[in-house]
Amino acid sequence: MTTNSLKSPIDNIKGVGPKVKEQLENLGIKYVEDALFMLPRNYENRTKLTSIRDILPGQAYQVEGEIVESKVYYPGRRSFYAKITDGTGYLQIRLFFFSQAQAKSFEKGMSVRIYGVIRNSGNKLEVIHPSYKIFNSKFSPPLDDTLTPIYSLGSNKITQYRLRTVISNCLKQINESNLEEEEIDNIFLKKEISDLNIKDALKIIHNPSIEDDILKIKNFEHPAQKRLIIEELVTNLIGVKISTDKIDRMTAPLVKSEEKTLKGFYKKLPFSLTNAQQRVINEIQKDIMNAKPMRRLVQGDVGSGKTVVAAGAMLTCAKNNLQSVLLCPTEVLAEQHFKNFSNWFEDEKISVELLTGKTKKKEWELIDKKLKSGEIKILIGTHAVFQERVKMNNLSLIVVDEQQRFGVKQRYEMLQKTNDNLLPHQLFMTATPIPRTLAMTIFADLSVSKIDEMPPGRNPVITSVMSNDKRDNLIERLEVICKDGNQAFWLCTMIEESESLDVQAAESAKEWIEKKSKNLNIGLVHSKLNKLEKDLAIEDFRKGKTNVLVCTTVIEVGMDVPNASLMIIENAERLGLSQLHQLRGRVGRGPDMNAHCVLLYQGSLGDIAEARMSAMKKTNDGFEISEIDMKLRGSGEILGTKQSGGMELRIADLIRDAHYLEEAQELANIISNYPKEMNILMNRWIGHKQNLIAAQ
Ligand code: ADP
Ligand code: MG
Repeated sequence: MTTNSLKSPIDNIKGVGPKVKEQLENLGIKYVEDALFMLPRNYENRTKLTSIRDILPGQAYQVEGEIVESKVYYPGRRSFYAKITDGTGYLQIRLFFFSQAQAKSFEKGMSVRIYGVIRNSGNKLEVIHPSYKIFNSKFSPPLDDTLTPIYSLGSNKITQYRLRTVISNCLKQINESNLEEEEIDNIFLKKEISDLNIKDALKIIHNPSIEDDILKIKNFEHPAQKRLIIEELVTNLIGVKISTDKIDRMTAPLVKSEEKTLKGFYKKLPFSLTNAQQRVINEIQKDIMNAKPMRRLVQGDVGSGKTVVAAGAMLTCAKNNLQSVLLCPTEVLAEQHFKNFSNWFEDEKISVELLTGKTKKKEWELIDKKLKSGEIKILIGTHAVFQERVKMNNLSLIVVDEQQRFGVKQRYEMLQKTNDNLLPHQLFMTATPIPRTLAMTIFADLSVSKIDEMPPGRNPVITSVMSNDKRDNLIERLEVICKDGNQAFWLCTMIEESESLDVQAAESAKEWIEKKSKNLNIGLVHSKLNKLEKDLAIEDFRKGKTNVLVCTTVIEVGMDVPNASLMIIENAERLGLSQLHQLRGRVGRGPDMNAHCVLLYQGSLGDIAEARMSAMKKTNDGFEISEIDMKLRGSGEILGTKQSGGMELRIADLIRDAHYLEEAQELANIISNYPKEMNILMNRWIGHKQNLIAAQ
């Protein structure tokens, strides 16, 4: 084996053909080393069975039992129900999406082994959509002898099983290969961070055996995890330093004040700016007139009016004959901004264009030409598209809306898009406040503006919590609201992490409402619709042609329909607090409106979910919400795949691991004196594509 076997292409590994190779590449895995550093975000413990008697509701377990009952039934929607027993108690299994064959396979007398979060439903134990295996009780399948790592797959097609196999094949090469880490291992050892070298740490992390401290591993407190978490933090801190130094040496395009136009624009709006908006606008104006590239974060709760603040800056640039872009996390949001901006700037004859993944090739070519010639002054698009293919003539300002992507990777991407020594100004807008520890370390180079005031006449959204069994009551409420000329969102969220289940949930919710009420016009948006269908559904809702919009979280951020006064969220117990707050922020945007939010839950609420629901009932203040969120997260709860804090990290979690930041900073200062090691780390954690030397 050569010393560089870890740098060999991933398709050298057994089991990686062209299809899997492509799937792996979509996950950012090109080389063996990339696969090794794709780290689990969670673990499942399938090494043992738990007796039903010993279950504490709200946690995940593996349970095995005999099927004593099974049926398809219709409590409003088609459902599957089975009851199993292991002799110590009973557990019910429920599926909402299933095939006939699946239902049939739960044959009485057969045994089933399930893994999933078990909750209380009434006084019964219940698991919804568990993973399961059915077998004849005489042939019980063997138990795992290692913890099962769970990787973040996003919406990629590859399965956990396949990725696990690939990674374990990669691990086989690790002993014979040189990870070029000795010096780094030494530094970690000397600083008493961890006496595990990187190879051993990786082996444990991907493949923890039952002899390892399982509790520590599940809480990300095992020395092997600490070794890697700190290494990742160190690398990011070094990255921040390098990019900050570089940015400090660059200049931004020259922007001159366009006060008259700016005032005129704000005067034309149907409302007057809040003092907070005005203050932040002034701060930004000052920044963009400076030769030093701006890096400013605007923090403002949902509905505080961040869009018009950004629009003013973009208008100023356009009037200077310079280009700017507004980047959005979703297409829906990009389209909404595009409509607003086009209206606002029509009189000014400023050319505004929209670019998303759905833009046709011909159209895109035309836009591309006009971007290069400088004709288009304002481009609105999704982050993904911009990153991949946009080249502009004289880009002076980049606004990033509602996506907290201002990590190190993004800084490098930005630096790569620049030629000469010109760097565009950057403005980030977010509803989530950044914790202090992060503001002082990873985001130390961001200036922060706060819109700490809501537009007048905004009433708080009244929030209630309701068991899903009572959802029939909502029909009347929907009808009343719509009779009054208002509108409602009905939001379906994931049962397990699957986009297609999400879509099915939305479709069946729509059918259910239609069956229950003849008086409502119901629209539907989800990710599987094509652009035209999606556009039409959203347009109809905006115009009030439909009363209720059944949707998936595609509408999560930014969507602004002032007439909407009711938000119903299904499976709310599965969502994080800040997401719930974002979603609730979609209603009650009109003046003096009485808006409501109903959080529906399945089964019974666990402690943490209960705490989240009460926080939602208690307050509409995003800052308070995020403080509570932090406390709840601090208690060890892992909230799905979403990382907060604006970084896409592989193992570190900036909130969970905030207490390591000081140590990491110290190490970063040391390693900054070792150029070779620094590069190994940067390439490993931030990416091969980044050409980091060039950025230095
Ligand atoms: P967010 O900060 O969540 O992005 P938006 O920019 O979408 O908020 O603004 C929410 C709504 O409030 C929009 O309909 C916008 O037109 C309106 N709005 C913004 N500023 C004001 C204001 N000063 N007074 C009244 N309405 C405002
Ligand atoms: Mg917004």
